[in-house]
Amino acid sequence: MLSCKEVVVEIERRLDGELSWRARMALRMHLLMCRHCGRYERQLKLLLAGLQRLHSPATDAEVQQVLDAVNAADPGPSSRL
Ligand SMILES: [Zn+2]
Repeated sequence: MLSCKEVVVEIERRLDGELSWRARMALRMHLLMCRHCGRYERQLKLLLAGLQRLHSPATDAEVQQVLDAVNAADPGPSSRL
């Protein structure tokens, strides 16, 4: 099973469309069982959806900016375990 730290990286890779089917299933399994990572993913989705409502779809640079801000503000789900 993926560690919480790996999940944060995998969520970002999935946003970039870089995950294989197998990797997406491993990620989904972890998200179903770990509420910390589930909450992290929901917050990220809300942030990205909010960006899209403000203006046209976010550019790669804007997505990266959000990810950087989230990572800076929240050291990651693994720190809470
Ligand atoms: Zn987790």
